[in-house]
Parts: sequence; structure tokens; C-alpha cells
Amino acid sequence: MKVVKFGGSSLADGEHFDQAIKIITADPQRRVIVTSAPGKRTADDTKVTDLLIKYAQQVIAGQPFQKTVDQIINRYTAIADYFNVPQDQLVPLAKRLNELPSWRFPNNNYLLAAFKAHGERLNAQLMTIILRQLGYEARFVTPEQVGLRVTGTPNNASVTPEAYSLLDRFAFNDSELLVFPGFYGITLAGHLATFSRGGSDITGAILARGLHAECYENFTDVDAIYAANPAVVDHPQPIAKMTYREMRELSYAGFSVFHDEALIPAIQGNVPINVKNTQHPEKPGTLIVPDKDFQPADIVTGVVSGKHFAAIYLHKYLLNKETGFTLRILNILARHNVSYEHMPSGIDDITIILDKNQVDDQLVDTICNEIQEEINPDQLEWIDNYAITMVVGEGMRNRIGVINDILAPLADQGIPVPIINQGASRISIMIGTYDRDADNAVRAIYHRFFAN
Ligand code: ASP
Repeated sequence: MKVVKFGGSSLADGEHFDQAIKIITADPQRRVIVTSAPGKRTADDTKVTDLLIKYAQQVIAGQPFQKTVDQIINRYTAIADYFNVPQDQLVPLAKRLNELPSWRFPNNNYLLAAFKAHGERLNAQLMTIILRQLGYEARFVTPEQVGLRVTGTPNNASVTPEAYSLLDRFAFNDSELLVFPGFYGITLAGHLATFSRGGSDITGAILARGLHAECYENFTDVDAIYAANPAVVDHPQPIAKMTYREMRELSYAGFSVFHDEALIPAIQGNVPINVKNTQHPEKPGTLIVPDKDFQPADIVTGVVSGKHFAAIYLHKYLLNKETGFTLRILNILARHNVSYEHMPSGIDDITIILDKNQVDDQLVDTICNEIQEEINPDQLEWIDNYAITMVVGEGMRNRIGVINDILAPLADQGIPVPIINQGASRISIMIGTYDRDADNAVRAIYHRFFAN
């Protein structure tokens, strides 16, 4: 059995629905379908999820919202019309959407989550209606029904272990297609909570693990995952196969085709992931597999740069002799709910690299003041313009001289490299550069390894 998930662009309108249905019905193994909310039809279109966020915000602010609701309903009606679905079949969907403001929520975060979840929920219902109309035995199944329980915050939920034992008990027969809405689960108190943005990938992975799929097919709008970002490198090489670990390291620094959190359930369930293009399902796409028995085809699998990093640099003589020094700095960060990414250190220096999105100018000042006061370093700097380039490949493991091949093209281009970190995983090397050099660094490294 395969779980197939369609992204928002793959379900944006009637034609795309038609193509998705062709894909679903072309392979009898494709039995569990996960829907995203309708995405953008054109570059300047708005995703249904974003319309729902607007709707929620208007409700919270006590502003008029009917225009937004109509816009949302129109997206579903347009798809239904493409298949000549009788009008009355959409009535319950529109009714539910209109009733949302009268639901009770513990607070506005829950309200927002519940509104957002309806993009995928209504799309799954619509998909079920259309499949049935076309003569397929299809069943709409909700996270509530299967017990897809989540914890965490309402708009950034995490699946619970209990969800897997409940999924294990979920019964379905061989002839039916099950249509699940992606992106959300149900909290222990019974409220809707969504994963982080792009989180329908996560639902697909949870179902693939929980229902013991042999493969998780993730249909999106690119032919494959590429060895570098096509916006940075011209016609980069598609990656035919890579390991979970490689994908994790690459998505960490910016490969966004597949949600990084969605890898975890797939890894836990040992389910291979196949990222494919809805418009070209005949193409093999990218297969993401366990590392056991994996034979790398290249030394480097991918190279990617993330520009959203900043760093705190501290210098203090005899830092290595002081006990609890790092602990005290990390305590300051923890106090402000800021996590760190990397922490390369020397005998008298330490650099703490963080994701810039977690802090604003005020928080930076507060943290730096506290460090100065509590730690009293000889030098303290905030470096705002870091980029991290990850060079990732199972083929790099145990290979001598790779670091030279990475650094030489950077030196040729005159790109300074303030930080190098060969991670403990041995399949990745992290290069810190200034953000203005990041794209050039990616191109230089890419061309060194993928010249021909
Ligand atoms: N519709 C949600 C979003 O736009 C989730 C998803 O598409 O995976 O983030």
C-alpha cells in the first residue's frame, strides 16, 4: 500500500484535481490520499490557507469577513464545477466554513489553527465527493476519527506516540480509497491544531508510518529534488536517490521541497519517500531511503546555503579553564526561549550560531547585555550576516581530501570562510560565510563536484 500526498499547487484547480485523480487511480497500491489546501493557480494568486488566516484575523478583530469567506468558497466551487458536481453537495462544506466563528476556542491561537485546518479538510471532502462521482469507492477520514492526536502549540503541533497505536487499530478494506486532510491533528482536549506551515507532508508521513505503507509518494510541482537550488545554480543535477540523513541535513539549510519534520515519522517507520511531479508522474523523481545498504552515486549529493543565521562571538582569555561558562551563556539564551544551531569554539573563543528568525533587535540587545553583565567577556560581538552552506553526501564519508575540494574553489573566488564545521555525522561539512557570498559559494562548490 502507498500513501500519496498532493501539495497545494497540485490541487489548486479542477485540471490539477483531474491530474491527481489520474495518478491515484493509475496504481491500485495508491490507497491513502492526503490533501493539501488549494494552493496558488498563478504567481500572484493567494493560497486558501492564507485566505483562511485572513478570515481568522478578521473574526478576531471583529471586522467584516463575508468577502473572504466567499473567496474561499469560490475556490472549492470552481473545482467542483470542473467536475459538474451538483451544487447541493457543496452546501455542507460552505455551512461548516460559515459556522466556524460560532465555535468555542480556548484562545485565538486555537481559533487560528481551526480555521487554517479547514483548507485541507474541505479539500479532502471535495476530493472524496469527486472520486465517488467518478465511480470510485472513496471514504473521507478525519484526524478525529483515526485518533491523530497531537501536543504542542495549536499552530505548531507534534504527533503523539499514542496516535500510532490508534492508527494501528484503524480498519479499512482493500477496495476503498481513503482521503485524509493533511496539516492538522486533534489535541488531547479535542481541539484542532495544525503542524507548522507546509505540514501536510507531515500528515502523509505519519499515515505512511502508522498504516505501514511500503512507500510514501509526495506529489509536488518539481520533477525532483536537485543537487542545488535551481534559483542559484543553472540546471542543477536532479538527485535520483538519497538517504534520510542527507535530506535532513539539506532541508535544515534550505531545501524546502519536502518538510524537514516529515522525515522523522518516515525514518521511524522505515518508509521510503518518493518526491514526484504531479505534472510528470512518469518521471522517477527523488527517492529518499534508509542509509542501510545505500550506495552513493556521487561524492556530494547536494549543496545548499541558508542565509537566516546570525552569531554571537565571545572572546575571553582562559575560557577553557572556566567551568560553567558555556552553560551560563546557554542559560541566558534559554531564558529568552532562543535555541542555538552550532557552537564552534577555540581555547579563548566561542561562536554561537542561531537562527535569526527567533530574535528581533530588542531581544539581541537584551541577550548581549545579559551576557556582558553575567559573563563579562573580553570581547563580545553580534554578527548579523552569517550564511551557512551545507555540503552533504554519504559519499564524503571516509573520503580523504574532500575538504580541500570544498575550500579550494572558495579560495579561487576570494570568498572568506570564517567558520568550518565537519559535523559529527561525517556526511556533511558546514561552511560559514557572510551572506553576500553565500550564492557564489554554492555555485563554486557545486561546479567543483558536478562539473561534468
Ligand atoms: N496548506 C498548508 C500551508 O499552506 C499546509 C500544506 O500545504 O502543506 O502551509
